[in-house]
Amino acid sequence: MSNKIMTDKQTGEKHCRCFKRCGGCQLGEPYKDQLERKQQKADRMLSKFAPVNRILPMENPYNYRCKVQNIYGLDRSKRIISGVYQSSGQKIVAVDDCFLEDERAAPIVRSVKKLMKDMRIPPYDIRSGRGILRHTLIRTSRSTGQVMLVLVTAGAMLPAKNNLVKALRAAHPEITTIVQNICHDGMPLTLGERDIVLFGKGYIEDELCGCRFRISPASFYQVNPLQTEKLYSCAVEAAGISEGVRVIDAYCGTGTIGIICAKNGAEVTGVELNKSACRDAHKNAELNGLKNIKFCNDDAGKFMQAMASKGEGCDVLIMDPPRAGASREFIGCAGRLAPQKIVYVSCKIETLERDLKAFRREGYKVTYIQPVDMFPHTMGIETVCLLERKGEKNEAH
Ligand code: SAH
Repeated sequence: MSNKIMTDKQTGEKHCRCFKRCGGCQLGEPYKDQLERKQQKADRMLSKFAPVNRILPMENPYNYRCKVQNIYGLDRSKRIISGVYQSSGQKIVAVDDCFLEDERAAPIVRSVKKLMKDMRIPPYDIRSGRGILRHTLIRTSRSTGQVMLVLVTAGAMLPAKNNLVKALRAAHPEITTIVQNICHDGMPLTLGERDIVLFGKGYIEDELCGCRFRISPASFYQVNPLQTEKLYSCAVEAAGISEGVRVIDAYCGTGTIGIICAKNGAEVTGVELNKSACRDAHKNAELNGLKNIKFCNDDAGKFMQAMASKGEGCDVLIMDPPRAGASREFIGCAGRLAPQKIVYVSCKIETLERDLKAFRREGYKVTYIQPVDMFPHTMGIETVCLLERKGEKNEAH
């Protein structure tokens, strides 16, 4: 079964028939009610630290995702379908159109399905371990117009590779690079270690806040570029960057926030665990002509530990950890480094609340809380917080 999107003529709100089965969206209510719900949650969880600013909304809360992933399978009549795994199991829910995604993705996915049929490329079946194409990843940039298609295969074999690429390029001149990624096992939607560039540069470039960033298949990159510009502007402003300020950008991904700070004159060290993202970060510093930034491919907690034990310090710590938040080790060492300011960018409010309490015990006071709606129609809340050092460690809290 395929899904359909309907637009309410009066309000402009969109509705998707796949809403319950797909799980990609969790909020089916009008956008202004979604914002209110998120504001209330942020107030409930964070107002004990400092007043919570109004959440920054999206003007047009649709088609924002610049990263689109699709799994392929067969329906009962053996027709090729694409979509997502049902949350309850390994059954694929066919999703042909999605109002969260960049509109350029769905036509490419349709062509992939047609070409799989024409060229006899079977979808990979996770239960039997047979078949070839596991999933596709499409990354797009609005600012540069570049589009990357990653074909994730179960092994190195991809039949009629050259013809496939030729046909995809003919149907979609907007695609600027095609990569085959080989993923032998692992969880659904993961990428394997090996990339084979079939066409183009093997990565795309995007522009944010006046800087240019290259993004490889496996690198983390924020999925909503319009809101990311707002988020980064809040973070950099809260950090109070000026010439010569020493900044650590922890969990830096492809180096984005640190690079924007370096462009404003800061002396930056970025730390990132993912090799591919760290490689992109080095290239991105070059791409933006910056010499006042370096990157370290390491666990952020270990990196902070090493800095603390060498007695090194910094003026501003910017941290943007994954949903799990920061480790105890990280927060303890951050306290020892004693930066005057900490800018915490969070994608999960529950771990943010936990970590803010821990930072309070390290002698920090939260002075600014700004939620940003990065993921309309989902429960996700992104938040920028500023913490300022208020004297010595406070064990009493
Ligand atoms: N600040 C970046 C990335 C944020 S996402 C941006 O805005 O694009 C979080 C990043 O933390 C990811 O790139 C992930 O690879 C990285 N990461 C996860 N665990 C880590 C750890 N223990 N140490 C360092 N980096 C880590």
